[in-house]
Amino acid sequence: MSRHFDEKTLVVASHNKGKVREIAELLAPFGIEAVSAGDLGLEEPDETGDTFRANAELKALAAAKASGRPALADDSGLCVEALNGAPGIYSARWAGPQKDFDFAMEKVRLGLVEEGTLDTRAHFICGLALAWPDGHVEYFEGRVDGELVWPPRGEKGFGYDPMFIPNGHDRTFGEMEPDEKTPLTHRADAFRQLVDACFRR
Ligand code: IMP
Repeated sequence: MSRHFDEKTLVVASHNKGKVREIAELLAPFGIEAVSAGDLGLEEPDETGDTFRANAELKALAAAKASGRPALADDSGLCVEALNGAPGIYSARWAGPQKDFDFAMEKVRLGLVEEGTLDTRAHFICGLALAWPDGHVEYFEGRVDGELVWPPRGEKGFGYDPMFIPNGHDRTFGEMEPDEKTPLTHRADAFRQLVDACFRR
């Protein structure tokens, strides 16, 4: 049995305003208000884990302990089958300090060329951790499978969206409007699991 979340506010352990807004929208229907770690002046811990789970849990626990309130954190990335799951937890870091995702996508393509493979399968993972100040953590992992395409297509998304076509579709995430992409994502999958386990009465 998962621990139920019974509070009115939840700390979102992120300093990324876009991410906090997206999570706030997902929590609103449950009457839960999102407060960002940035607004509370909490420090962001280094992502020293070597799995999505470890990174999501360390971020959620740090925010819960520092704020004295339950906190939610996510860690996500693109895993390419033929590259043994890379870039994985290093997805943001592959884009470098300039956050240049054209560069990161080119790195993925070169990796596949170097492997000499025609296997373009990939998936996105979203690890989601809900931590309480007493150290209890609930963890959920969402996933969406698809194929990589080259050249990248579409300008509507972010990150690796322009090179990823989810299975059962023929356009990339970058070519989809947000209301079409969002329910298909690894994040939506992880949130559905969190809601079912911790928020529903
Ligand atoms: P995080 O903010 O540390 O979880 O980094 C996640 C990184 O994975 C982002 O910088 C993106 O590059 C990539 N990523 C995660 N989710 C998506 C997505 O839905 N589309 C495209 N790229 C994503």
